Amino acid sequence: MRNEIMTDIKRIVVKVGSSSLTNDTGMINIHRLESLVKQIADLHNKGYEITIVSSGAIAAGMGKLNLAKRPVEIPLLQAAAAVGQVALIHMYQKMFSEYGKVVAQLLLTRDGLEDENRLFHAKNASQALLSRNVIQIVNENDAVAVDEITFGDNDTLSAMVADIVNAELLIILSDIDGLYDDNPSENENAKLIEEVILINDDIKKLAGDSGSAVGTGGMITKLTAAEIATEAGIHMVIANSSKDWILKDIIEGKAVGTLFKRR
Ligand code: ADP
Repeated sequence: MRNEIMTDIKRIVVKVGSSSLTNDTGMINIHRLESLVKQIADLHNKGYEITIVSSGAIAAGMGKLNLAKRPVEIPLLQAAAAVGQVALIHMYQKMFSEYGKVVAQLLLTRDGLEDENRLFHAKNASQALLSRNVIQIVNENDAVAVDEITFGDNDTLSAMVADIVNAELLIILSDIDGLYDDNPSENENAKLIEEVILINDDIKKLAGDSGSAVGTGGMITKLTAAEIATEAGIHMVIANSSKDWILKDIIEGKAVGTLFKRR
């Protein structure tokens, strides 16, 4: 079943959350970033067109600004994000260039995407980049829009991006294997749900908020993303970023994570 779905996939958006890219110290998890880059470069070599929606700017900025822990004040979070975004993209560019890949940075704001004219231009830019084999790295423009740093909502941004680039699959990588029938950080008997066909109220009731200090959206924003993506005709998978070659397993149709089938 998964096999059949995955055979038609060519264009993919991969969203990677703060909890995956940040160590317990609050600083960037370089090992995880490197694994992600290697996996994406490998899929790109196989002909997949990939766009990344990446969190982690604040974590990258903390090191640069010598902040021992994640700031609480919004202006300082914005400052860390602004400094960190450059550092993060530099790391992506360095790692991807080792595999001969070219990257581009796209900083979006949600209200910008609600404007038809700006949406049109964003679509054109991203089509031009994809047609030239560029791997786009998208984030919310945190210095001017504070939605993501206040709500941790790169999840819904990633679903909007999947729609903008006409992706067939959105993969949300997190610190958890997928959607469970209860919040696994509170209930150790919670079970992984392999497939969701309809996101109804019963499914929404299962989602709790983030269990970690750095993650913010939890499963609630991931289900909102799943609603946006599946209604736009895009399949979505939530999976664990810490598993080796997780992206390859998903693309090969292995039963990993939770699949939300497109409508
Ligand atoms: P990210 O930074 O990857 O977006 P979050 O911390 O925001 O990660 O979201 C993932 C977390 O959501 C999990 O680690 C878990 O603690 C929490 N969570 C709440 N409800 C559920 C659920 N039903 N199934 C899985 N995880 C859940």
